[in-house]
Amino acid sequence: MVHRSSVPMHWRLYESRYNLVGNKCLVCGEFFYPSKIVCPNCRRRGILKRVVFSGKGKIYSYTIIRNAPRGFEKYAPYVVAIIELDEGPRVMGWIVDSKISDIKIGQRVSVVFRKIYEDGKEGLIHYGFKFRVIDENNQLRD
Ligand SMILES: [Zn+2]
Repeated sequence: MVHRSSVPMHWRLYESRYNLVGNKCLVCGEFFYPSKIVCPNCRRRGILKRVVFSGKGKIYSYTIIRNAPRGFEKYAPYVVAIIELDEGPRVMGWIVDSKISDIKIGQRVSVVFRKIYEDGKEGLIHYGFKFRVIDENNQLRD
């Protein structure tokens, strides 16, 4: 049986797919992505508050995918990076619309929302976040 995500599930996940949403502990100040139920630093004393991240950060580490997995061949070569958000958490994402020569450790990036894949010819189009290279003034590069 083919596994497909249902439309109601898609809508339930809408917010976290279109925003980089996590939370912050108001006691110790640490940000979390994905959201934590309990602050690992403060335990029961922690007070967690939902936050939408700026989506800006820098490349912490990256890899160039030349031999893509099935279904992703047409995108190769592409870059998958670990991004350290300005607020602190690290997230994994594709780097898109950027020259591979511009991609380096410490490079500033900004989140963009893009199609991830289509679920069959008639199926759902899945969107999610990816990242683009930006300059030191947080402007997109051509
Ligand atoms: Zn805390």
